[in-house]
Amino acid sequence: MASLLCIGLIGANLYGRIINYLRHVIKTMSQIEETHDYSQKINEAGHDELSVFSKKLNNLINERHQNDKKILRAKSEAEKANQAKSSFLANMSHEIRTPLNGIIGMSDIMSSTKLTTTQKEYLQTIETSSQALLLLINDILDLSKIESGNLSVTNTDANISEVIYDTLTIVLAKVVEKNLDLEVEIDADMPHLISLDEHRMRQVLMNLLSNAVKFTNKGSIKVVANASKDSAGYIDLTIHIIDSGIGIAKDKQQQIFSPFTQEDDTITRQFGGTGLGLAICKQLVELMGGTISIESVKGEGCCFTIALKSQIVTLDQPKDSQFNGLTAALISNNSELTEQLNKECQQQGFTLNYHYQSCFDLLQDKQAFDLLFIDSTCSTRDAIETLPELLQQKNIFTIAVNTPKEKRTLDNMDATITLPLLGNRFRNAIHNGIENRQLRQKQQPVPHGTDVETTEPVNIVVLIVEDNLVNQKVASLLIKQAGFDFIIANNGQEAFEFISTGESIHAILMDCMMPVMDGFTATEKIRAWENDNSLQRLPIIALTASVLDQDIQKCYQSGMDDYLAKPFKKEALLHKLKSLPKLAS
Ligand code: ADP
Repeated sequence: MASLLCIGLIGANLYGRIINYLRHVIKTMSQIEETHDYSQKINEAGHDELSVFSKKLNNLINERHQNDKKILRAKSEAEKANQAKSSFLANMSHEIRTPLNGIIGMSDIMSSTKLTTTQKEYLQTIETSSQALLLLINDILDLSKIESGNLSVTNTDANISEVIYDTLTIVLAKVVEKNLDLEVEIDADMPHLISLDEHRMRQVLMNLLSNAVKFTNKGSIKVVANASKDSAGYIDLTIHIIDSGIGIAKDKQQQIFSPFTQEDDTITRQFGGTGLGLAICKQLVELMGGTISIESVKGEGCCFTIALKSQIVTLDQPKDSQFNGLTAALISNNSELTEQLNKECQQQGFTLNYHYQSCFDLLQDKQAFDLLFIDSTCSTRDAIETLPELLQQKNIFTIAVNTPKEKRTLDNMDATITLPLLGNRFRNAIHNGIENRQLRQKQQPVPHGTDVETTEPVNIVVLIVEDNLVNQKVASLLIKQAGFDFIIANNGQEAFEFISTGESIHAILMDCMMPVMDGFTATEKIRAWENDNSLQRLPIIALTASVLDQDIQKCYQSGMDDYLAKPFKKEALLHKLKSLPKLAS
C-alpha cells in the first residue's frame, strides 16, 4: 500500500510538473506570437529531458526570429528597389519630356511658316516620331505605376458618349487616310453622366481604337456602346470596338494582354508598337472593376469588349433652351443619314420638320424654318450657288453634314458636322449657327450717326517663367503667334520679383522645377503678395514635365489655377490661355 501510495504521489507530482511546464511553454510561445518579442525565452534551467526540450524549442524560436528579420530586410530592400525604379522612371520621363517639348513645340511653330512640300513631309515625320516617343514614355510610366500599385482610379462625372466621340476624333484622320468606314452606335438609353474615371477610360479607348485602325487595312471600324440599367441606380456598360482587320489567332488571344507581347514577331516589323497598350488597358479596366475580353477570327477582324458597372449620375441630358421651338429642314437623298439626324435632333429637343431630296425641291417649297442641314455628299453644288439667295430670302442658318471621307467642303456654311460624330459637336454646330444668324441680323446697315461701339485692342502680356532656353523660345513663339505679348523670367525668384514690382501682367505660365526658386514656391509667394496687397489673383498655369498625380496635385495646392503637361501643342496652350476669363474677354 505504502509503495503504491508512493508511486501515486510521484506520478501526481510528475503529472503536475509536466502540465505546469506545458502551460509555461504555451504561454511563452503565445506571447511571442502575439508581440513578436523574441527576447522572451522558455525556461531551460535544469538537466532533465524537459530542459533539453526547452533548449531545442528556444533554438527554433531563435531561428524563426532570424528568419523574420531576414524576410523583413528583404521586403524593405525590395520596396526600396521598387521605389527607386519608379522614381528613376518618373525622373527619366521628366528629363525626356523637357527636350521633347522643344522638338514638338518647334516643329509646331515651323509648320505654320512657309515650307515646301518636301519640308512639310519631313516635318510630319518629326511630328509623328516625337508623338510615338511621347506615347512610349507615357506607357512605360503607366505600367510602372500600375506594377508598384501607385495607380488608382478616380471617378468623376463622365459623359461616355463624348468620351467615345472625342477619341474617335483623334483617330479620324487615320481612318480617312486608310479609307475605312466608321460607325458608331450609342444606346439611346445611355445615361448623360455616369461615375467613371474619364481620363483612364479615354486612355483605354484610345489604345483599343488606335490598334483597330492600325491593324485594319480595309473594311470598317465600329464602336458600339450599350447600357442596361438596374434598379439600384447602376448601369452595366459594355463598349465593343470592332474591326475588320488582320485578327488574332485563338492561341494568342490571351497572351497579348501581357506586357511586351505581340501576336508574333512580324507584327513589330510591319506595324511597330511595343506590346504595352493592351497590358495597360487590362489593368486599368480591372482597376475600374471591369473586364476586357476579345473575340477574334484570324484574318477576319477583332472585337474587344469592355464591360463594367457604373453608377448613374444624371440620366437625361438637360435640354438647351436655345433649341426650344427650333424648326429644321434637311436636304439629303440618303435615308440612313436622314434617320440618324432625325434621332439626334429629337435628342436635342427639336424635330426635323422638312425633308427635301434636293435644293431645287426646297426652293419650290415656300416653308419657313430656322435651320437647314445640307448633306454634302448628295449632289448639292447647286446648294452652294443658291445659298446666298436663300439666306437673303429667309432668316435661316445652315449646317453642312459631312462624312469623314468627304474632302469637299461647302463654303458659305455657318457650321459643319462630321458623321458619325455627334453629341456636343452637333450642339456646338447649332450654337455657332444661331450666333452667326444673330451676327448677320446685327450687321444690318446701321443708321447714320449711330456709330458701332469699337473696343480698344488690349495688349495681353503673359509672363513666361522657365529656365530651359529652348522651352523659353517655344513658349514665347507660340504666345507671339497667338497675338499676345510676353516677358520671360528665368526662375521663380525672378518671376516673384517682377510681379512684386506691380507690373501689369495678365497671366503666368509657370514651369515647376527650376533652379534658385521652383514654381511651387514662387506661386505661393505670389499668392501671399496678392493677398497682402488685396489684389486680384493672376491666372497661373503650370507647365510641368511631370505627369504624376501627386505633382499635379502640388500645382493646385501651391495656388496655381491650371496645368499643361509638357510637351504641349500650340492648340492646347492657346486653349488654356483663352479659357482664362481675363484673356477670353
Ligand atoms: P502594340 O500595339 O504596341 O504592339 P498592344 O498591347 O496594344 O501593343 O497590342 C499587342 C498586340 O496585340 C499587337 O502587337 C497585335 O499583335 C495584337 N493586336 C492588338 N489589337 C489588335 C487588333 N485590333 N487587330 C489585330 N491584332 C491586334
